[in-house]
Amino acid sequence: MTNTTTQIEASFGAARKLFNAPAASIAIATRKAWESFQEHVQWRPGEVHLISNMDEESVLLLDKSLPMCDQIVGIGGGAAMDMAKYLAWTRQCRLILVPAIVSCDAMLTNTVAVRVNGIVRYFGNKFPDEVLVDYGLIQKAPKELNRAGVCDIASIHTALHDWRLARDQIGEKYSEEIASEALKCLTKLDANADEIYNVSPKGIDTIVDLSSAEVDFCTRFGCSRPEEGSEHIVAYNMEYLTGRHIIHGELVGLGIFMMSRLQGNGEDWILDIMKRTGLRYQCLEATPEEIRQCLLTLKNYGKMAKLFYSVLDSRPITEEFVDEALKALYS
Ligand SMILES: [Zn+2]
Repeated sequence: MTNTTTQIEASFGAARKLFNAPAASIAIATRKAWESFQEHVQWRPGEVHLISNMDEESVLLLDKSLPMCDQIVGIGGGAAMDMAKYLAWTRQCRLILVPAIVSCDAMLTNTVAVRVNGIVRYFGNKFPDEVLVDYGLIQKAPKELNRAGVCDIASIHTALHDWRLARDQIGEKYSEEIASEALKCLTKLDANADEIYNVSPKGIDTIVDLSSAEVDFCTRFGCSRPEEGSEHIVAYNMEYLTGRHIIHGELVGLGIFMMSRLQGNGEDWILDIMKRTGLRYQCLEATPEEIRQCLLTLKNYGKMAKLFYSVLDSRPITEEFVDEALKALYS
């Protein structure tokens, strides 16, 4: 199923379109995003709910406590987008998303990532009716949060490698056509790295366009295999082990750094792209010891969480690999 129903409007002031919204709107936002949004647009919904995470408990509780409404408006990053999507799905109402950062593709997909006992699970089926990409609002956020938005494009590099391994070693379904579309996204990322680094309107458009292309080919293929490989296992295991919320882009950046090395797959090339786009990959919110533990438990975590086949099934992560990789990470 391809998403042809979402209208994306990108401009300075796009969020002002909310003034045409029906009266019974409920806004879902993170605290920081709501403060920034209020300074930028003076629109007020009937109700506002500030959220902090997407744990199963929080999601179910909020869903139960909120009334029916005509429209849900999600304002913020991935968690606010996902919560808004979930609530609009259970209410079967209109959904408008206003990204305060273009930090991940949650604003373009129909599924909702919920953390169930610390493990990510996907629920729901609701594409946004409108996405209002307001350059002015997005540029108010710290630049590094927006640069983090390229993580699910950069991850194509390691994900495609894992996907080919799965095709060759266990005969997993593979599509040459989709793989080549995904590779084109990587090339565009490379070509527009400077604009992304500067979070210019062209840089924001590039992130949105590439995310949109990526969501489209993943939806046509039926899952996120073309952009989700072992680098995402690193991200999920880091969340699981630390129990802290760390920006998805920084976790995936770390995963790309580590897994491209394990794969022996153009690690310098992709590192150069991460540096030029400003995608952080050192995950400084985690200690070296936490990263070490994450790598050493990675294969078992992948098995426990019943994730996909990857380089982890064909190459061991040894103490020597971890020592060498950590040294390179901080050099
Ligand atoms: Zn991701």
